[in-house]
Amino acid sequence: MKIWVDRNICDNHGQCAIAAPDNFTMDDDGVLQYKEDFSDDELEYIEDAIDVCPVQAIFLKGEQ
Ligand code: SF4
Repeated sequence: MKIWVDRNICDNHGQCAIAAPDNFTMDDDGVLQYKEDFSDDELEYIEDAIDVCPVQAIFLKGEQ
């Protein structure tokens, strides 16, 4: 699976970067940056990020 963020929805609130800082970061311009690929032990944090995103812009796509 890969992380995919719908940038048409994302408002750069940054909650995902607090929940899963290894996978989501806010750059110097306050814009979300993220890595599509992740390890198994990062999944629980990514699921937390999905839960806390106020606009539900984070998705997991594809087969594992
Ligand atoms: S929490 Fe949601 S809206 Fe905020 S930066 Fe992350 S993906 Fe974007």
